[in-house]
Amino acid sequence: MTQPLGLLAELTHRCPLACPYCSNPLVLESRTDELDTATWSRVFQEAAAMGVLQVHLSGGEPAARRDLREIVAAARDAGLYTNLITSAIGLDAVRLAGLQKAGLDHVQLSIQDIDAGSADRIAGYGGAHVRKLAFARHVVQLGLALTVNTVIHRANIGNTPALVALAAELGAGRIEVAHAQYHGWALRNRDALMPTAEQVFRAMEQVEPLRAAYSDRLVIDLVVPDYYASQPKPCMGGWARRSLNVTPAGRVLPCHAAETIPGLEFWSVRDRDLAEIWSQSPAFQAFRGTEWMREPCRSCDRREIDFGGCRCQALAIAGDAREADPACALSPYHARMQDLARPVQHDAPLTYAYRGRPAA
Ligand code: SF4
Ligand code: SF4
Repeated sequence: MTQPLGLLAELTHRCPLACPYCSNPLVLESRTDELDTATWSRVFQEAAAMGVLQVHLSGGEPAARRDLREIVAAARDAGLYTNLITSAIGLDAVRLAGLQKAGLDHVQLSIQDIDAGSADRIAGYGGAHVRKLAFARHVVQLGLALTVNTVIHRANIGNTPALVALAAELGAGRIEVAHAQYHGWALRNRDALMPTAEQVFRAMEQVEPLRAAYSDRLVIDLVVPDYYASQPKPCMGGWARRSLNVTPAGRVLPCHAAETIPGLEFWSVRDRDLAEIWSQSPAFQAFRGTEWMREPCRSCDRREIDFGGCRCQALAIAGDAREADPACALSPYHARMQDLARPVQHDAPLTYAYRGRPAA
């Protein structure tokens, strides 16, 4: 069994934004169920003892937690490299400087598009874009490392080069050009988010010249869209191999969408040590390694490379989490996945079901 290297700490599902591709579940966890500061602190100590190197403080919007500074300090105390994944809403220069003093190492800022009108419409929040740009400048002025994350879909796919230029202009050292992954709210909004094949291939072709043009100041990471792929990604680096995800209420998941798979039993940090959960939780054991695989994965040369791709996508498209990821050309469900992209390519309206708010 491998050791985890990264911990995604979903501090809260609360968020002022309402992005239609949000990876949070359709039923959001409430504020009253959130883990307290002391429990997060214990979880970070347990994670570090297991060999985890990095914690990604995520949400929802982590700034919705009033104790964010104490949480950052606890992660630093545990010796973890601390990355804050934020929309910037709720963070001004003073609060950010406090987080830096508490030990914050890195900021990952989401940017929805290049102009305020489109960006705010995608986020479902007026005024967000201007605040994000100001926040990015505070991050750089403080000397914190900045990554810009931009989720690519039909409304912004034509702006990929301009989004890269914006990240460089803001002083980011890295940009993630992440084509939408159709889980959670993105699956619900798939018809409105899905670009055409022509748009996808054009946007992907643009990335290599951009990498060359910005090689002296910006790393460009490209997350390719599964619906137009022929080989799957090694989702999460393989189920229960590299990382774990703790929900706001304390359930420990092998990936953020794992709760969509029926029948899995998730253990909680409220009841058990993280190391015990990693090694023995039924949800982590369910798809660890290769023993669970059916054909075509079971006898495939790539089974230790991509681990059969994404279990949640297999469930969503093939109807069974034990199938090969339908992004794979060898999957009997590959054509079904391509068909799901095709009918919505041209005329589906850009009307979003915005991400909801958790119950109080
Ligand atoms: S994707 Fe959007 S709505 Fe979801 S947590 Fe991030 S900023 Fe909030
Ligand atoms: S058959 Fe399975 S292991 Fe082989 S490439 Fe496809 S998803 Fe990966």
